[in-house]
Amino acid sequence: MNSNKSQPSAAPQTKSPAPQPPSRVVHKMKIVRIIDHNPVIRELQLQTAQNDVFSFQAGQFATLHVPHSPKPVLRAYSFASDDREKTGFTLVFKKVAGGIASEYVWRSREGEYLDFTGPFGRVVFKEPANSQVFLLCTGSGIAQHLSFIKSKADLLPQVRFRLYFGLANEAELFYVEELARLQKRFANLHCHLTLAQPSSQWRGLLGYVQEHLNPAEYLGHPATFYLCGNGEMIKTTRKLLTERDQVVSSEIIAEAFD
Ligand SMILES: Cc1cc2nc3c(=O)[nH]c(=O)nc-3n(C[C@H](O)[C@H](O)[C@H](O)COP(=O)(O)OP(=O)(O)OC[C@H]3O[C@@H](n4cnc5c(N)ncnc54)[C@H](O)[C@@H]3O)c2cc1C
Repeated sequence: MNSNKSQPSAAPQTKSPAPQPPSRVVHKMKIVRIIDHNPVIRELQLQTAQNDVFSFQAGQFATLHVPHSPKPVLRAYSFASDDREKTGFTLVFKKVAGGIASEYVWRSREGEYLDFTGPFGRVVFKEPANSQVFLLCTGSGIAQHLSFIKSKADLLPQVRFRLYFGLANEAELFYVEELARLQKRFANLHCHLTLAQPSSQWRGLLGYVQEHLNPAEYLGHPATFYLCGNGEMIKTTRKLLTERDQVVSSEIIAEAFD
């Protein structure tokens, strides 16, 4: 079998009866909905096979097992949904041309099952929370930050959440309406979308996410910064925050996808 061309399974397989450490238990997750936000961004809404409980904390990730010989290829994907949902979760995939997991996910169909282990990851929302929370993300890095917003913004109305979401150009836009909806729902959420290389028609913010940080909003105020996505953005933002603004490293929490 050419394992790169393997299809997601059509029905859950019988689980091994032998007890396994939680991280090694394979969860069969049913694809209940696929949303293609643009040609390279796919959202999968997944549910446990028999409405079994699957718990995670916002900030963590699941590992997708892509069937492959002699053993599955494993790839990490951050949860994008509210961590109070206990029988399913949402993931956001950015298609990498020729990527093993990308090709597999783009071949999958609603009603099929995918194998996951998890949850994994030490990046979780720091509590008690500081009064200012800055979420800086690029591309599919928004997944982790959506999970923070959906899980925490209503529980912590006294905390001001500021999201800075960076994409390259108009063709990459996604979640624009979702962010507008969330902003309406949570008075303590402020979203900023910025494009690094837009067309001349673009009237929104321009440049990289870190260029829109306003130190007046956090210098002298307790603040935590979450960075997610592109490694270069994380490196540059961390340097800016620690060297220019003297933000302590313990308040900068980062997850690089590359
Ligand atoms: C903790 C963690 C959480 C993550 N969460 C997400 C998530 O929520 N959504 C998501 O889409 N991804 C996420 N990733 C990235 C994901 O795990 C995969 O690396 C990514 O989907 C590519 O896998 P692939 O098998 O399709 O490509 P591969 O087969 O691994 O790569 C194919 C080729 O593309 C190159 N490549 C790999 N990644 C990229 C990239 N990002 N840009 C350009 N070229 C690349 C590789 O170097 C290789 O040459 C996360 C990574 C980590 C570590």
